[in-house]
Amino acid sequence: MAEVKDPVCGMELDSSQAEAQTTYQGRAYYFCSEECRRTFDENPEGFVSQAGTHNSETSPSELP
Ligand SMILES: [Zn+2]
Repeated sequence: MAEVKDPVCGMELDSSQAEAQTTYQGRAYYFCSEECRRTFDENPEGFVSQAGTHNSETSPSELP
């Protein structure tokens, strides 16, 4: 179980309860509905840039 946030509508939900999921730039995103997922897929950059303000270009993927 993990708490996630629907980047489209802002709803907080559990990843196991998400109705839809997509992967963008190696990260998984969860949505309350297929409609929100479609909205995200139309313009993923718009939603991702809003979510991570301090993480513009560098990727934190390289952990020891
Ligand atoms: Zn939603």
